[in-house]
Amino acid sequence: MALIDVGGTLWPNSWPIRKADAAGRRLRIRAAMPGIEPATVDALADDLIESSRPGDEARAISTENKVSINSPAEMLITGCLSRCGLPADADTIRRIRRAMSIPVSDRMRPLPGAVELLAEIRDLGMRNVIASNTYWRDADSYWEDFRLLGMAEHVDGIITSVDAGHLKPHPAVFEMAMRWADVPAERCVVIGNREENDIEPALALGMRTILVYPDDPKPAASRAHATAPDLWACARAIREMAG
Ligand SMILES: [Mg+2]
Repeated sequence: MALIDVGGTLWPNSWPIRKADAAGRRLRIRAAMPGIEPATVDALADDLIESSRPGDEARAISTENKVSINSPAEMLITGCLSRCGLPADADTIRRIRRAMSIPVSDRMRPLPGAVELLAEIRDLGMRNVIASNTYWRDADSYWEDFRLLGMAEHVDGIITSVDAGHLKPHPAVFEMAMRWADVPAERCVVIGNREENDIEPALALGMRTILVYPDDPKPAASRAHATAPDLWACARAIREMAG
């Protein structure tokens, strides 16, 4: 099984902000809060959009999550709901989180060779499981993105830090993927662009590793079993490993 990171691995490190995103979120928040006074929902949407602006702007530069708390989106949403006098139960938080997770930008494109890499891994008889640190996105949000990008047909499973409850380098994302697929660590290869988030926790679990840098500078050093400057080279590396 291949456990594959997303930001800086399958698509770019940066996340474009669109002017229409706030309007799209407003509509999605309204749909997520039926039966609530429209003025209250509008105040909630204003608060959510304003409170999340600094993080969205930071992710427009790098999607690498630098926040150490494991569910920062849930905390932000809880704060907004409380300020609007609305109950912050788990179900409401999840609906708001999905409303804030607008589908991937029409300007966002997979990195060159991403689709071919996924197809190659499948050809080798392995499964593709997405293993990603995210802010808003859970697996369902990501499925929507991968469908829009024409990548969903090559993906077998998706585990995000939102689903696993911990950010990589915590092993929870990889452990949840192994449970989901019922595959032991020694039959997993992790593909990612961050030594500390992808390679180190994978090595600690006894997995094979490929550090890729299609959207990063060449790393000075890596403990990974292989390194690849682009996703075509990654496909060759994984074929060699499998052979
Ligand atoms: Mg990454």
